[in-house]
Amino acid sequence: MIDHDYHTHSLYSDGRLLRQMVAAASEAGLSGVGISDHCIVSERDAMIEVRNDIGFTFDATYERRRSAIERLRENYDIEIYDAVEVDYDPRDEAAIETFLGEADFQYAIGSVHNLENVNVHYESYFAEKSESERAALVDEYFEKVVALIDSELFEIAAHLDLVERNPALRGFATESHYRQVAEALERSRTATELNAGRVLDDYGEYHPSPTFLDVLQEYDVPITVGTDSHTPEALTDRVAHLAEWFEERAIEPTELAV
Ligand SMILES: [Zn+2]
Ligand SMILES: [Zn+2]
Repeated sequence: MIDHDYHTHSLYSDGRLLRQMVAAASEAGLSGVGISDHCIVSERDAMIEVRNDIGFTFDATYERRRSAIERLRENYDIEIYDAVEVDYDPRDEAAIETFLGEADFQYAIGSVHNLENVNVHYESYFAEKSESERAALVDEYFEKVVALIDSELFEIAAHLDLVERNPALRGFATESHYRQVAEALERSRTATELNAGRVLDDYGEYHPSPTFLDVLQEYDVPITVGTDSHTPEALTDRVAHLAEWFEERAIEPTELAV
């Protein structure tokens, strides 16, 4: 039984209408849904360009969304969490801390999406690199994930092995990487998530992968549920898949104290 989905996107970043996302969560029988729109907060020129190129504006519009969430709460019998998914890089910690302090979301998800200021989804960019370069980039990716957890800026560390989505970066993650992340989670207040973003798509696995999850389960690591859906249809399908998965694995998903 899945009760809470802490990771969804609305039109305030790259998802669908807020109302459609909430309606889908409500119809799926959830008692809570977190709207965690993408937010890039950085004072570095390269990331400001990335933000502007994509068209992410949530750092400037979160108050509008907040007022819309307040109105939706009157019409839906489901908890709607006013949350955010922030791009993390160690160099942006001060800017992120200031922003989160001002914006005061109910919780924040932290994500490493970029290597060399390029989204790790960008297959051809990474495919052009040599094998040793790609291995070094995957090392760097996991170093950033550990720094994200150690920063204590976030309630949830998202999709811990996002690099696995990209065939050019897949297969370089090692048990040592997994243990470094698990140890960081064990010493932190930060939870992680079972992320369904690509489980019904080309990649076909959850984040973290089954072997990564085996390592995490040796540690005392809370795991929340995140469909990472950008459409109401994806939310519906992924909640059903997650419910079966948790039942098979006999794991209880963690609920955040929000
Ligand atoms: Zn993400
Ligand atoms: Zn997301």
